[in-house]
Formats: sequence, structure tokens, C-alpha cells
Amino acid sequence: MLNIALFGPPGAGKGTQSEFLIKKYNLFYISTGDILRKELAEETKLGLEAKSIIAQGGLVSDEIIVQIIEKTIKSNPNVNGFLFDGFPRTLVQAYILEGLMIKLNTKLDLLISIEVPQEESVKRLLYRGKTSGRLDDNETVIRNRLKEYDNKTLPVLNFFKERGNYVAVKGLQEINEVTQDLITIINEEVSKKHLNIVLFGFPGSGRGSLGKAIAEKYDLEFISTGDMLDDEIHKNTPMGDRIKTIYENGQLVPDEIVIQLLEDKIKHSKDAKGFIFKGYPRTLVQSYILDGMLKKHNSHINKIIELKVDTLELIRRLDQRSQTPQRMPYDSSTEKIVKRLQEHKDKTLPVIEKYKEVHDVAEVNGMDSFHEVMERISGEIENSFKSLN
Ligand code: AMP
Repeated sequence: MLNIALFGPPGAGKGTQSEFLIKKYNLFYISTGDILRKELAEETKLGLEAKSIIAQGGLVSDEIIVQIIEKTIKSNPNVNGFLFDGFPRTLVQAYILEGLMIKLNTKLDLLISIEVPQEESVKRLLYRGKTSGRLDDNETVIRNRLKEYDNKTLPVLNFFKERGNYVAVKGLQEINEVTQDLITIINEEVSKKHLNIVLFGFPGSGRGSLGKAIAEKYDLEFISTGDMLDDEIHKNTPMGDRIKTIYENGQLVPDEIVIQLLEDKIKHSKDAKGFIFKGYPRTLVQSYILDGMLKKHNSHINKIIELKVDTLELIRRLDQRSQTPQRMPYDSSTEKIVKRLQEHKDKTLPVIEKYKEVHDVAEVNGMDSFHEVMERISGEIENSFKSLN
């Protein structure tokens, strides 16, 4: 997720800049002012409660704000991130925001303050008042709003300065110049984010070849635990020898070994933009391990893709593969193929179900040509990660 709060006095240009940013970064816009005006227009209980305060240029209570923010966030799950405009406006709201982010298992990435001198704010709001129809765009109320800003809202800046995610831009520039400054700041933040994808699908669904192509296209590190284990065997390391013995006895490789290999891989891929996992996690235990491991590296899963291919087509593909050098040991007989498919069904499908509770799992039809399926996966990735462009 990418979560940003635009900060600044009334008239700084937060609304104007938001229009562009939500499109560019595919964010969900939350303007507490807009929501309150809507409640007011619809004469809801909440709107009526807030009416006189807004009309005087005061700040409505934190209780009202927490209600509307919670409601809006709850009714928009699975968004790419939020852009807050006009929130947080008090120190209490800064704490509320932190709490809400924790609840969503995410964080506020940036609080960007658009700095504009008071008299400029007054000038702009008076000008806007000619056409806005807003009951609070007149001089007396404007001055009161600015006083509230100085007294109650400015202290919020220190909160975020201490947190280390505060950045300021100069608001006394052309609109497109301010936009450019915002883009530079946000892009820098986005480039620090990892893109971690888990690619699920039955054996034969094309995870390996597609995963590698996706890794190449998006500059990600392809992580196939199966390949990593094979590598280790070929390198004849002590770990490889252990794995070989385990394989020869027909046993499953213990999670401890895979953890060690994954940890090494992640540690040595510091410059990667992210990872694409294939063949891991395969069990519920492994799904907890992966979540924990990414968390340890200050990261998390961003996208889960499930390749869907009909069972008959899977069998056909695996059987075909058994005639090629790419064959896997489990391709060699129908019995082995069925066993492997059954294992995926029993052990891995529950993992996908678990992820569905907390993530947006994209089902991708894997029945067509490599190129077509690749396009579908790319579409899914780009849709979720417009913010990485
Ligand atoms: P805005 O559209 O952001 O300028 O907000 C217009 C008015 O709505 C403000 O002057 C406040 O009365 C009220 N308001 C908007 N957001 C908040 C907030 N986060 N906390 C308290 N009052 C708010």
C-alpha cells in the first residue's frame, strides 16, 4: 500500500493536487471536508451536528472524524492506498491515523506539507469563494479557519517530523510545479518499496516459465525453493548433501532447511526491487514462515496470483513435459502426476484460502498461450502497482 496525507493550510492546493495524485498513483481519496459537506448536504445527523462548527470555521470533534474515517476505510477494502486530505488536523487525529494504519497492517508513508503564507491562503480562498458556494469561504470564517490551523493543526507537523515521514513542498509555485515536486517525493518513496508476488497454481500451470518472465520484466528476484534445493545439491555443499539424502529417502525437506536458504537469498538480494515466489509457500506453516520472514526484512506480500488451468489440460501438459529434458521426477508416470496434483489440492489450496482472507488474490486464466497469460498477469501487477511506475 501507499498511504499519503496532504497537509497544509486551507487554500494550499491540497484538493487540486489530490485530483492528479489519486489518478497517477491509483489511490483512494479521503477528504474529511468533502465527506462532511456531503453529510451536510444530505442533512444526516452527523452533518447537522457539524454544520455550525464548519460555518464558523472551527474544527469538528475528533469523535466525528474518527467515525467518518473508519466508515470510509472499512467500505473500501483492497485499495492500493489512501490519500488523506484535511486529515489529520489535530494531534489526537495524528494518533488516530497511526492506530488505523496499524489496524490495516500498513503505515502512513508520507505526510507532505504544502507550505503557503497566511495572506496567500486568504487571497486564494476569497477568490475560490466567488464560485465555490461554500459557506466557509468568506473573510471572517477564513481568518478563523487559519487561526484553528495555527493553533491545532500545526502541532501535528512535529508529530510526523519525529516519526521521520514528513516532507515539505513550496506551495507558492505554479500548480504544475507543485505537482512535479510531489511526484519527485512520492516516486522516491515508492522506489523504496518492495514488490513481492506469490505465484500459485497447480504443477503444470506454467508458474516456472511465467514466474521467470515476470521477474525479468519487472526486475524482481525469482525465488523457486525447488530450484534452490536443486542448486544446493549440484553445488555439493554440506547442505546439498543433506538435501540429497532426504530426497533419496523420499522425504520432504524440513522447513528449517528451506528457511535458511530463503534467508540467505533475501539477504543477498538487497538491490532487488522485490521477489516473486514460486512453489512457496506450499503449506499453512510455510505461509506463516514467509509472512514472518518478509516482516523481519521490513516488507510484506503485495500481490498474490493464482493461475487457473483445467485439470485435464494440466495432465496433458505434464505428460508432454515428461517427454522433454525439462521433465520433473514426478512427471514420469500418471500415478506420480496425480499424486502431485492431489498434494497441491490438499496442502496448498488451503494456503490460498487463508491468503484470500487478508489479501486480494487475483485469479488468472492460464489456459491460453504463454504470451496471452503473460499479458494477463502483467495487467494484474500493473493494476495493483500503478504506484511503482
Ligand atoms: P476542508 O474542506 O478540508 O477545508 O474542511 C472544511 C471544514 O470541515 C473545516 O473547516 C472543518 O470545520 C471541517 N473539517 C474537515 N476536516 C476536518 C478534520 N480532520 N477535523 C476537524 N474538522 C474538519
